[in-house]
Amino acid sequence: MINQTKTTVIFACPQCNLAHEVTQTHSHTKKAGGFDCADCGAAVHFWYGCFDYSDWRAVNMNSMTFTHPNALGDPNQPR
Ligand SMILES: [Zn+2]
Repeated sequence: MINQTKTTVIFACPQCNLAHEVTQTHSHTKKAGGFDCADCGAAVHFWYGCFDYSDWRAVNMNSMTFTHPNALGDPNQPR
């Protein structure tokens, strides 16, 4: 039985900064591959080695890496 270690890692697009969540698994054979940005199509990550990546998907990181002009609402607005 193969004992796989799964890790969730985040890669941000170098072009539009869209975050992508991907499941990283350790592989016993060398793997090569790559992912493109789900939004702008730029190359986000390429690999060759003993890791494999799956479940590539864009994620909304909200306030972590994105700027939301209206996220906090209008401070002048009465509650
Ligand atoms: Zn992008």
